[in-house]
Amino acid sequence: MISTATIKTAVVTGGGSGIGRAIAERLRADGYQVAALDLNPLDGSDDLAADVTDRAQVDAALDDVRKRLGPVTILVNAAGMDGFKRFADLSFASWQRLIDVNLNGVFHCVQAVLPDMVEAGWGRIVNISSSSAQSGQPFMTHYVASKSAVNGLTKALALELGPAGITVNAVPPGFIDTPMLRRAEARELIGGTVEDHIQRTPVRRVGRPEDIAAACSFLVSEEAGYITGQILGVNGGRNT
Ligand code: NAP
Repeated sequence: MISTATIKTAVVTGGGSGIGRAIAERLRADGYQVAALDLNPLDGSDDLAADVTDRAQVDAALDDVRKRLGPVTILVNAAGMDGFKRFADLSFASWQRLIDVNLNGVFHCVQAVLPDMVEAGWGRIVNISSSSAQSGQPFMTHYVASKSAVNGLTKALALELGPAGITVNAVPPGFIDTPMLRRAEARELIGGTVEDHIQRTPVRRVGRPEDIAAACSFLVSEEAGYITGQILGVNGGRNT
């Protein structure tokens, strides 16, 4: 819990569902002011509709957040989409769409909040990538490429922004029980059921959105100030 004298404002993209939603809830419970941005936001008063691929929408949403909650010094990029297609059959439009949401969305949101962090001399950025960037994943070349790029962006940006007091880290989740995972299971795209995968997961359970939220809670905290440019896997030991 943080002191009320130092209440900070956080923006969580993809905060309307799954992992992003759990992160927004956790940061609120930690005592931050939180605005969740999503295509379909929840009804919470500080949640906003914005498509992260549309810079004008992101800028407008950020202006709105600043007016209501003050400068934004914490950003968690959790908005994302998956995709499954044999590479030979993958259209360039599908490739571009995945890159646009998962990578370019991070570009837009980081650039939009950066002036607040630079002005404050303090900032925390956490990018939700994917364990598939560590392991690879067949039929997901566009998704894996986009998430690998997010890890790369994280490392490079951490070096650039460290002197400004801003840390940048990535959390690549592995196998987290969210609507995204259950949709893929229902379409028989994950190579068996969630239950089958649990038997192959060292800690013998599926991940929970709260597991990712706990890692984010730490990475955005004051005490994580010496941690930057890191890729913190949260995957039950599936990737080491
Ligand atoms: P989810 O339940 O589908 O949540 C993703 C959220 O992002 C949804 O609310 C979605 O809105 C929103 N979103 C999608 N495109 C957007 C856009 N252009 N602008 C704004 N919001 C957008 O999925 P999740 O499992 O929580 O995934 C969260 C993040 O974790 C994603 O980046 C995903 O790639 C990553 N991840 C998840 C897992 C896992 O096992 N679940 C594993 C590795 C990585 P709509 O629902 O309206 O489309």
